Amino acid sequence: MTTPFYGPDFDALEQFDPEIAGVLVSELARIRSGLQLIASENMSSPAVIAALGSTLTNKYAEGYPGRRYYGGCSEVDKAETLAIERCKALFDADHANVQPHSGASANQAVYGAFMQPGDTILSMALPMGGHLTHGTKVSFSGKWFNAVSYGVERESENIDYAEVERLAKEHRPKVILAGGSAIPRLIDFEFFRNLADEVGAIFWVDAAHFIGLVAGKAIPSPVPYADVVSFTTHKVLRGPRAGAIVCKEEHAKTIDKAVFPMMQGGPQMHSIAAKAVNFKECATPEYADYAKQVIANARQLATSLGEHGIRPTTGGTDTHLSLHDLQGIGVTGAEAEQRADAAGIVLNKNAIPFDPAKPNIASGIRVGSPSVTTQGMGTDEMKVIADLIHTAITQGDGDPEHPVAKQVRAGVSELVERFPAYPR
Ligand SMILES: *Cc1c(COP(=O)(O)O)cnc(C)c1O
Repeated sequence: MTTPFYGPDFDALEQFDPEIAGVLVSELARIRSGLQLIASENMSSPAVIAALGSTLTNKYAEGYPGRRYYGGCSEVDKAETLAIERCKALFDADHANVQPHSGASANQAVYGAFMQPGDTILSMALPMGGHLTHGTKVSFSGKWFNAVSYGVERESENIDYAEVERLAKEHRPKVILAGGSAIPRLIDFEFFRNLADEVGAIFWVDAAHFIGLVAGKAIPSPVPYADVVSFTTHKVLRGPRAGAIVCKEEHAKTIDKAVFPMMQGGPQMHSIAAKAVNFKECATPEYADYAKQVIANARQLATSLGEHGIRPTTGGTDTHLSLHDLQGIGVTGAEAEQRADAAGIVLNKNAIPFDPAKPNIASGIRVGSPSVTTQGMGTDEMKVIADLIHTAITQGDGDPEHPVAKQVRAGVSELVERFPAYPR
């Protein structure tokens, strides 16, 4: 390096603020000591974290590269241009906006670009696998827009395409949205594209969960089909906690104006630099191998849990996550989450399609393979993890001192010692 880099100085933090320094240390210890199976989480690389912990956080750069409302943007312009070009290349997209602060911010911008308050959107219902920002009443999306929602078929537990078509023809929505937070199977983008054309709607894909699998060429891409694709950069993709949008050239200006100045102020340049690093990582053969392994691991985990009577909805998965119905083993989602947590396994309770339980109890759990795959685990380890989950949630009681919790934690320790998170 010709110029010294001013980077994270942990000693300085520890000296000035031992309380927060302590949180950083104990959070790392928590990640290292347990199994992280939250489907929306991952472990970003030291390179991504270095960009995040940089002085780029200081810079105001409202506007876009070459068209800023502030001086001194020559260097951050380079970072944003790299992020945009790498994002376009990675997804073979006409246009990319890398400024959204998060997935929810990206989605807000898509609404702002294509809809007026009161307009209708057709999207997946939250309890069927959708997302809060897809029109639920507690979110801006449901307060300001008219959301008509589709679900899944009772038998297959897959998207009910007949219902989607019927509702689209009945309601003539401005926008049709595909994607969600608990969809284990591939989505038929071509079906949605044709339907959107038929009813004159914009076709939007919220790829927050699975975009990393697209980046790794492990599943088909929505980009050729959708008018606009929004996503997060911190889930399977493994970048910084943020969002991004890619779209067809005809929507480029509309999307850019909707992100800034309609929905956001100054972009977070440290995060944009970290997105550039992440997009570069995602273009490597190693990342493509990672994406394929994420799916192989998720499939194995779903199958092995199923063999323990913890039924995967839709019969399995094509992606990085599976959703499991616990009714067959007589455990609620809330109990399972707590019992697993007491045993060092972090996962979340989740509503299953047609769930008879309240959302804060739920009849299911959602498990994902992105983090454990980043740690280097493979399908053999997934079988062990399924055994540990089964033992913890059927024999534990949520108390970390219970002998079963201790026994499972020993199994977890054995795994994370062989496959450490953030190895030293
Ligand atoms: C995670 C997620 C979001 C929101 O992302 P945040 O960064 O948490 O705001 C939006 N849509 C879907 C489908 C998601 O899974």
